Amino acid sequence: MASVLDVRDLTVRFDTADGEVCAVDGLDFSLEAHETLAVVGESGAGKSQIFLAILGLLTRNGRASGTAAFGDHDLIGLDRAALDDIRGRDISIVFQDPMTSMNPSLTIARQMTEVLERHQGMGRIQARAHAIGMLEQVGIADAPARFDTYPYELSGGMRQRVIIAMALLCNPRILIADEPTTSLDVTLQAQILALFHDLKQAFGSAVVVITHDLGVVATLAQRVMVMYAGYAVEISPVDDLFDTPQHPYTRALLNAMPRVDREQSTLVPITGQPPNLERLPPGCPFHPRCPQAFERCRIERPPLETRGVRSKACFLDWTAAPVATGQAVP
Ligand code: SF4
Repeated sequence: MASVLDVRDLTVRFDTADGEVCAVDGLDFSLEAHETLAVVGESGAGKSQIFLAILGLLTRNGRASGTAAFGDHDLIGLDRAALDDIRGRDISIVFQDPMTSMNPSLTIARQMTEVLERHQGMGRIQARAHAIGMLEQVGIADAPARFDTYPYELSGGMRQRVIIAMALLCNPRILIADEPTTSLDVTLQAQILALFHDLKQAFGSAVVVITHDLGVVATLAQRVMVMYAGYAVEISPVDDLFDTPQHPYTRALLNAMPRVDREQSTLVPITGQPPNLERLPPGCPFHPRCPQAFERCRIERPPLETRGVRSKACFLDWTAAPVATGQAVP
């Protein structure tokens, strides 16, 4: 399968009052055409910063290095005008809080037609018809009437649907959804997940879902990249990851979530705290929390090693053993 995005040696650093913080360190991964890749990990693992860096949306104290090949472009270091053209047309992002993605002082109509006029060269009437059609496609009831309202006049679930419609207006090659269901109640979460699933079939975009929720991963993804402290620690097809997780952190994440696919006695929370990026431990960043750590782990950082379609960053041997649920790891 062809890659739509190929990221090599991506590093993201921030200047802070306490010195430099490395949020993503030497990351390699690719996104295949039409696939859904889930990026999972605790908050602070660097998940969102990867894509903010690729899209040139880091805060002013942040900077990125490495390469992110998208067609003929390397998105890292691309000038602002070129990135403005790519964002919203070829690559769209849906944020967790719809209000951060919308201008509260402009109607939905104005915000949607502007995208089509700018990126697709449509006239006002054509843009209006296309945008209303997209609202209907994402399940907004009575779309022509909603079209001329302001964001604050819509419910949270409806705002999220509008944001998804805006993201899909130009039929992007890549749709990035950053915690797309976190701010929604359980019923709306299920509806939005079903919507993503249907839209992916209809539009054929490659999708990246950034989430801490393995339920979302199981519902939507074909492949998963597990992040810890700015590093990819495991990349696997979703079924392999759930059946035979290779990294102790992946096992810990799975043991901490309810499983409907197997018998499970208790949930086991992950011990310890996510590491402080300003003071990462030497060696494997997971070693202070890893029940299988040994001497080498405290000194050397394990590289990401690939076997077939799977990769892991851990000194332990590859295992074919299914995850033991409801038990301490492992
Ligand atoms: Fe645990 Fe060592 Fe593997 Fe790190 S390298 S996850 S500390 S066993």
